[in-house]
Amino acid sequence: MPGEIFVVTAPSGTGKTTLLKALLAADLRLRFSISYTTRQPRPGEVPGRDYFFVSPEEFRGLRDSGALAEWVEQFGYGYGTSKEWIIQALESGQDLVFDLDSRGAKALKESFPQAILIFILPPSFQELERRLQGRGSLSPEELARRLENGRNELREVSWYDFLVVNAEVTAALEQLRAIVTASRCRAARSWPELEPRFRS
Ligand code: ADP
Ligand code: 5GP
Repeated sequence: MPGEIFVVTAPSGTGKTTLLKALLAADLRLRFSISYTTRQPRPGEVPGRDYFFVSPEEFRGLRDSGALAEWVEQFGYGYGTSKEWIIQALESGQDLVFDLDSRGAKALKESFPQAILIFILPPSFQELERRLQGRGSLSPEELARRLENGRNELREVSWYDFLVVNAEVTAALEQLRAIVTASRCRAARSWPELEPRFRS
């Protein structure tokens, strides 16, 4: 039985990393899809756990050889997802969580129409700016770029399946877990496993 695909998008600074870490710790059936990126690790980020940190040359090599299921250039860096890794993980029946921008979400949905798309919103733009500033590691230019990008990302919410507002971490996490649980209960997903019990 192939696993579920959950794609999570949020304007940078919303709290997506915080929520995804908590979601993955709470649900051991979920596995995080580790992207490639050409940006530098932030304090606390671990290579091979949060991202595969690669040089621009390595990224170009992966992209040009067709190894990426989708990729984007944003904030001056490359971000992309390994095609081989997705196929292997899905075949082993794992539920996958992707942290992608809206372009990546759209591209993945085209390749995997069963993907469930979740958009996490900040409670307001003022709070988004406060959280981004609180993270501390961004230059004023990068902060402005991420806020502008966040405004553009918010225009994309209408085609997502689920919206979660991250005002308070515990409440937002509960909603994410409810979405995962409901998705696993869909008949298309659960009936093939249940059907053998009811064969006469
Ligand atoms: P993202 O991955 O979306 O860029 P992070 O998870 O790095 O965001 O969070 C950005 C900042 O906001 C961090 O300092 C984090 O501790 C803080 N944060 C996350 N969720 C909340 C919340 N619900 N309320 C207040 N601060 C939050
Ligand atoms: P950050 O630099 O804050 O970790 O990520 C910046 C943005 O890149 C976020 O919106 C995140 O969702 C997105 N992102 C991370 N990995 C990928 C990826 O593999 N593909 C795409 N399309 N976006 C990604």
